[in-house]
Amino acid sequence: MRYISTRGEAPALSFDDVLLAGLAPDGGLYVPDAVPVIDGKTWDAWRGLSYPGLAAAVMRPFVGGALPDAEIAAIAAEAYRGFDHRAVAPLKQIDTDLWIMELFHGPTLAFKDMAMQVLGRLFDSVLTKRSRRVTIVGATSGDTGSAAIEACRDREAVDVFILHPHERVSEVQRRQMTTVTSSNVFNIAIKGTFDDCQDLLKAMFADVAFRDRVSLGAVNSINWARVMAQVVYYVWAALRLGAPDRAVGFSVPTGNFGNIFAGYVAKAMGLPIEQLIVGSNRNDILTRFFASGAMEMTEVVPTISPSMDIQISSNFERLLFDMLGRDGAAVRATMNRFRQSGRFEVAEMVLARSRATFSALSLDDDATRAAIRAEYRATGEVLDPHSAIGVAAARARAKTPGVPVVALATAHPAKFGQAVAEATGVTPKLPARLADLMERPERVTILPNDLKTVQDYVLARARAAGGRA
Ligand SMILES: *Cc1c(COP(=O)(O)O)cnc(C)c1O
Repeated sequence: MRYISTRGEAPALSFDDVLLAGLAPDGGLYVPDAVPVIDGKTWDAWRGLSYPGLAAAVMRPFVGGALPDAEIAAIAAEAYRGFDHRAVAPLKQIDTDLWIMELFHGPTLAFKDMAMQVLGRLFDSVLTKRSRRVTIVGATSGDTGSAAIEACRDREAVDVFILHPHERVSEVQRRQMTTVTSSNVFNIAIKGTFDDCQDLLKAMFADVAFRDRVSLGAVNSINWARVMAQVVYYVWAALRLGAPDRAVGFSVPTGNFGNIFAGYVAKAMGLPIEQLIVGSNRNDILTRFFASGAMEMTEVVPTISPSMDIQISSNFERLLFDMLGRDGAAVRATMNRFRQSGRFEVAEMVLARSRATFSALSLDDDATRAAIRAEYRATGEVLDPHSAIGVAAARARAKTPGVPVVALATAHPAKFGQAVAEATGVTPKLPARLADLMERPERVTILPNDLKTVQDYVLARARAAGGRA
């Protein structure tokens, strides 16, 4: 299996190189040169596997020999061992044709653990073979930082530095990061906004000398390995609901388009996925795109589903690559147009083709609270705001009676407890293992919004650069 860039100007790489590279040098995202198509006998054989067993089977063709099969199996087994639910990703029926799949039973209570727990172990495995270390630097406004920290803590080949805006993340979110006191984890509170954190991160990646010295790596959602690990739960749910003999749909609360794109890959592998429904909050750039064919940037508005407060859905470029006939030059031109003018459009026929699979719905905060309340009353399910958007979108957009739709529940309700309490009158409880989160000691360094100061801090501590030697 080789991976090519969506912008057509970077050399093809193997899986392990793509894992370490993150973004392609031409600015594109890596995608498989051909998605493996699975035959009927194999689907049948996969139906009886446990979640970790299925994860290994689904990932194997994408890893394409870059790691031995036994190692992939061991990584999958370990990645999900710490999950709170024996099924890892339990399915619950909440209406005649409607199911939810709970993806929040991992260490940080959001679906990002599903892939990040695999990613951290893949890094360790590939780097140890090469006798190399990396320094992961990330910026977070919430869920990604804690998932990355939990995935990288105590890993021999990885140091992780996470920037968050000082006093601008919720207390639960901050404590999920700062109470991890492993020696390879560094929490940095920047005196500034989330955008300042992202600008610092971009500047560090643009500084080639610094990047090489610390061997900088990325764990954001453009990393192909995260998409790959997310394909697994689409296969898991579809097989359990009767695929490949029976069609199924998915509804996905969407921000960066990484989660739902994994569903698109599962369809390309041969699963009868009839529809993929995009749920958004007021940051509705994708809903507008699927309505009009025009991708048009506007201001980001803060909502009660903050993990989807995004204007540019970076993984959308992977779908665009297919929409434009896998023509890297066309993607490059389109993305340049988008960067310069904040807008691009696709042809009517291209839009029609994508609409055969995708539909979308956007809910504002009032509608989201109403959805949380309505589902609680009708089904007894306490949904977090992101998950509620997925369920509401599923109800509104489900295409064919009798075809089950699975709405992905992406966060535990306690992670967004205040919004849930406002909507239902019920304050959801944190799982027992996090019950003392508010009492645990924190470790965090507050730094000014200054590139040199942050770089010096990283250089002095990153083992890849000889820090802490
Ligand atoms: C990250 C996140 C999303 C959005 O997922 P994308 O892959 O960015 O589309 C949705 N819900 C929750 C709870 C998240 O943390």
